[in-house]
Amino acid sequence: MNDFDVIIVGGGPAGLAAALYTARMDLKTVVVDRGPLGGQLLNTELVEDYPGFESVLGSDLALKMGDHARKFGVEIRDFEPVKEIDVEGSAKVVRLESGEELRAPALIMAAGGLPRYLQVPGEKEFWGRGVSYCAVCDGAFFKGQELAVIGGGDAAVEEGDFLTRYASKVYVIHRRNELRAQPILIDRARANPKIEFILDAHVKEIGGEDKVHVVRYEQHGEAKELRVGGVFIFIGFVPNSKLFKVHVNHDEGGYIVTDRNMQTSVEGIWAVGDVRAQLTKQIATAVGDGTTAAVAASMYITTLKDTARA
Ligand code: NAP
Repeated sequence: MNDFDVIIVGGGPAGLAAALYTARMDLKTVVVDRGPLGGQLLNTELVEDYPGFESVLGSDLALKMGDHARKFGVEIRDFEPVKEIDVEGSAKVVRLESGEELRAPALIMAAGGLPRYLQVPGEKEFWGRGVSYCAVCDGAFFKGQELAVIGGGDAAVEEGDFLTRYASKVYVIHRRNELRAQPILIDRARANPKIEFILDAHVKEIGGEDKVHVVRYEQHGEAKELRVGGVFIFIGFVPNSKLFKVHVNHDEGGYIVTDRNMQTSVEGIWAVGDVRAQLTKQIATAVGDGTTAAVAASMYITTLKDTARA
């Protein structure tokens, strides 16, 4: 016996867009989130790249998206951590930490993920006040300033290069003396006169007053510091794909692999937004993913109901 037509795990933009569409298509929908609605929107100060909203606070956009989904009758279970997601026959079973079980024929995985944190003093304190994990989202706030980028992988080198559109100078600080990024990205960055690599350097602290002013690091046993207006941290991203008790295909980074309809390797399970393997992590792409998955899930449920009636 199913409680819902669709269970959506994760209440960020991808999950809320999916919920809005499934509820409008008259499917009994529940959104479960371990925290408040909004996902990464709640970690974003200003959003200036979502069409139709020239400038909006991430938290305001989160509220608007939540209210919009509620208006169409979506059941919202916020502050309800999910323990595991299982499959029993055709039913998708979501077991909550509270002990409760939710069942539906369709499940849309929208649990996102988190940037890997540097875990140094100042990182949390200055989050949104000079510390960022997204160059596309926040780069434009640092026009003409000097910036530090932490990391030595593809993301750090590519995003460092991207940030020179705005910054007067970008220091890429990496803990080893060898970069992990692809040679083509390294060559491009090395050819950029605004980029300086600082290797064998271990960041110890991010400092400032009301916003970031300085990054302190240790290099070859010596304490050093750089005056910067912002610190962009790109030391990896951890997708929340480990909730599945069944195997769902994923790439080496843990991102769930889907087809163009957001369908995963398991029938009746779709994946959308930051938890999905794809080119970029933007609000607009998350919303697009959610919409596609909702339409696909609706078609799937219609087919199931038609089959059951026949
Ligand atoms: P990544 O490849 O895992 O690199 C993470 C980097 O951060 C590494 O250089 C690592 O140092 C460093 N790091 C990890 N933990 C650290 C810590 N606690 N303190 C300081 N440094 C730390 O992650 P990514 O760059 O985000 O890329 C993730 C995936 O997306 C990769 O598969 C990448 O190829 C892909 N990607 C591709 C592109 C592209 O093709 N254009 C762009 C972006 C991302 P070590 O090197 O010492 O381990």
